[in-house]
Amino acid sequence: MKKKESEHICALCGKPLDFITDAISEPDGRLSHFDCVIEKIRKQYRVEEPDTVSYIGQGRFAVCTKGEDGKYTIRDRINYESSDSFLSMKKLVGNSGE
Ligand SMILES: [Zn+2]
Repeated sequence: MKKKESEHICALCGKPLDFITDAISEPDGRLSHFDCVIEKIRKQYRVEEPDTVSYIGQGRFAVCTKGEDGKYTIRDRINYESSDSFLSMKKLVGNSGE
């Protein structure tokens, strides 16, 4: 029997993804939790307080750093999802009602 389309496992922590709309697609096409990706980027880029990792849309994350004036500025931009996998995920979400 085929696996159900809705059964997705996080590529980073191995737990099921409850909401596919909160998932991030990995460069290899698998999916992972939004929070797991933030944590991964944090470690990978050695992001420490008060710097933060934010999602800035279209599969991109940014490492933000707090300046002396208290404003956050973007220190690094990370293209995490390839545009192809991002589009295929959106397509998957769009077709889930069938
Ligand atoms: Zn996870």
